[in-house]
Amino acid sequence: MQAEYLEITDLTVSFDGFVAVDTVNLSVLAGDLRFLIGPNGAGKTTLIDAVSGLVAATGSATFDGNELIGRKEHRIARLGVGRTFQTATVFEELTVLQNLDIAAGAKRSSLSLLRRRRSVPAAVAETLETVGLTDLADAPAGILAHGQKQWLEIGMLLVQDARLLMLDEPVAGMSGEEKDETGRLLQRIAAENRTVVVVEHDMDFMRSFAASVTVLHAGKVLSEGSVEKVQADPRVQEVYLGPGHHTEAEVAAVLGEGA
Ligand code: ADP
Ligand code: MG
Repeated sequence: MQAEYLEITDLTVSFDGFVAVDTVNLSVLAGDLRFLIGPNGAGKTTLIDAVSGLVAATGSATFDGNELIGRKEHRIARLGVGRTFQTATVFEELTVLQNLDIAAGAKRSSLSLLRRRRSVPAAVAETLETVGLTDLADAPAGILAHGQKQWLEIGMLLVQDARLLMLDEPVAGMSGEEKDETGRLLQRIAAENRTVVVVEHDMDFMRSFAASVTVLHAGKVLSEGSVEKVQADPRVQEVYLGPGHHTEAEVAAVLGEGA
């Protein structure tokens, strides 16, 4: 079987004539952990909004050969595409387990949802382990720490069997330890041969965990490749640090060591 991949071709999103995403071409293979970075307003969120069916776009975005552009959000989700938002959208009054159950139920018939099950389904139990929330399965999601809510949201995508996961700034507001946990979680998910796209602001996090990077600027792809390659790219340095020559120390302070 051919590997699954996300292929974006000439993707464009305009808001009243303002072009937020401008003829973007981008491919991400299954197993990759692709970071999408770029300054505020670069079009990162709009790009994943377009791929997940939240905003209208022109051009093409296919996953596993299926065209996503022009389809409704729920149809795109059924094609194995899932995304998270910067602010976690879990059901606060329900337990962690119930949240996962509901997400898993999106794939089950309403009849099987009505039947009471005596045990936790294997896929849900496995996901609890994967996202490190087994001990909190019966806790209301509302009491979870910020980081744990993000992990629950990622778990909700996993039980839906999302094959393409797009995460919008998953580590914003997390402690250093939570960021590392999240990075390792994302690596495990990518290692399961899923396709993972992470929109991020946090350069340290990006350097530690990105397998590959695409830099967006003013709606266009500015640079792409390994962490080292985009850090060393003068166009990326110019966008992040301004025009002109920058010392190694200046670059390192913004884009990290080794740039
Ligand atoms: P990023 O996530 O990279 O910070 P966004 O994708 O949120 O950037 O925004 C890209 C640009 O599109 C920004 O200039 C933003 O103001 C604009 N934009 C985003 N959403 C809308 C909208 N619904 N209507 C009008 N302009 C928007
Ligand atoms: Mg954004």
